[in-house]
Amino acid sequence: MLSSKLKGITPSFTIGISTKVKELKSQGQDIINLSIGEPDFLTPSSAKNNAIEAINMDQTKYDSAAGLLELRKAIQNKLQVENNILYELDEIIVSSGAKHAITNTLIALLDYGDEVIIPKPYWVSYPEMVKLVGGKPVFLDTKKENNFKVTPKDIENILTPKTKIIFITNPSNPTGVVYSKEELQQIVDICLKHNIYILADEIYEKICYVDSFVSIASLSNDAKNITITINGLSKSVAMTGWRIGYSATNKTLATAIAAVQGHLVSHPSTISQWAGVSALTSCQSEIVEMVNTYQSRRDLAIEALKKIKNLEFITPQGAFYLFIDISNLKNKLKWNDSFSVAFSDMLLNIGKVAVVPGIAFGMDDFIRISYACDTEELLQGINRIQSFIENL
Ligand code: PMP
Ligand code: GLU
Repeated sequence: MLSSKLKGITPSFTIGISTKVKELKSQGQDIINLSIGEPDFLTPSSAKNNAIEAINMDQTKYDSAAGLLELRKAIQNKLQVENNILYELDEIIVSSGAKHAITNTLIALLDYGDEVIIPKPYWVSYPEMVKLVGGKPVFLDTKKENNFKVTPKDIENILTPKTKIIFITNPSNPTGVVYSKEELQQIVDICLKHNIYILADEIYEKICYVDSFVSIASLSNDAKNITITINGLSKSVAMTGWRIGYSATNKTLATAIAAVQGHLVSHPSTISQWAGVSALTSCQSEIVEMVNTYQSRRDLAIEALKKIKNLEFITPQGAFYLFIDISNLKNKLKWNDSFSVAFSDMLLNIGKVAVVPGIAFGMDDFIRISYACDTEELLQGINRIQSFIENL
């Protein structure tokens, strides 16, 4: 009965676990949620006030499929000033979250059976998005010794005449690694040589603890031409529920993306878009404060995790996650299909901490914790993980 495109599609692990935690909490259970990557900060006042003003000024009608002109101007300015990329206004499309910006792009680019290279570990939704639009996810194994970064050789080893796109998430969810300019240039060179688009998911760009973040499209005009820059306000300005993301790319593709969006949803909520204008133009100090807080939480979490035997992880340079290798604990519990799911389930039921099993990111020897939560809760959660592991 259902479309064959849904074969093997699983619901989002991250959203699913977080919903389960809310349910358990409403039943009175004391659970610490280190699962979903959702900022615990509130949307800055000026963004909220701009939305309220938009309602009162009756900015509540249909608008352009590509997004509000005022918001696209703010995005254009941001990309020029902060990332050194010159996009025309008609190369920028505002969508309902980065998720939607990515899906629109895949619809616009993929034919049935086209291959999309997805480096492991990947963000949960990429493979499902590709499958939902009839594409074929092709997983690229990366190495821990190489900080899970993609190398040009990895790409050359895996590409076929059907390869159309590669996903590069920088900073990465779930590892938090950040690529250097040289590493990105090498990836661009290979992609140019083989006519592959780069879907550059830069949603964690602002949450970066090193100075080396470089936007792929800024590397050259050629790089810009094959790149779809994806970004949004969910993480950077703590605006997850407003659903504002965007894509920026060459004019031909951007026009196609706007056409896709026009038919599917017309455009994101006008009210949210007005909040977005303010988020991009007047929330700088709030963003700095949030990022400083994430950085200090990262440092505290690392200190606490180092005290737990048998866990290994790399120090994240961006985003707000720690991707933790739990393979040393494999002989401590019984499991059938997935070790990380069995571990995470036990941790939730016995240890009362919610984390995301690594299998959601394609790597079953790991769990991911998010430190986008209250500092006290984070440290208490890590304490609980320690007791749970010590009692295994
Ligand atoms: N890309 C990555 C890497 C993410 O972690 C997320 C998580 N939300 C998204 C895209 C989607 O973000 P949005 O809320 O803007 O849809
Ligand atoms: N991206 C976040 C995460 O990885 C939020 C949940 C989601 O959109 O999947 O936890």
